[in-house]
Amino acid sequence: MTLENCGNCGKVFDSDKGEKLCADCIINEKKELLKVTNYLKKNPLAGIMDVTRDTGVSRNLVFRMINSGSLQIRKTPDLHKCRFCGKGIKYGSVCASCREKIEGMGKK
Ligand SMILES: [Zn+2]
Ligand SMILES: [Zn+2]
Repeated sequence: MTLENCGNCGKVFDSDKGEKLCADCIINEKKELLKVTNYLKKNPLAGIMDVTRDTGVSRNLVFRMINSGSLQIRKTPDLHKCRFCGKGIKYGSVCASCREKIEGMGKK
């Protein structure tokens, strides 16, 4: 029997296998991880800021998931640039306003 302090809630628990977290926190962390992975499936371009804001999972926990390798996230979502005006955009190759212009031209 090895007593450890839980790295998350500080509770003393029996760490036979060298766990760093108590059973409660491990279960909780798995739930949070699931939340984050589901979110990232729907929002593959999301950064850490988006994840913490939209899932409510704390940034520390997200960082810990990344460090432990259980979570993979784009470190900085590489910004694409609009081919026409050079504005940073999240996806695609043309920004919304340029796309509108192009589509407008096509209609004429
Ligand atoms: Zn704990
Ligand atoms: Zn543009």
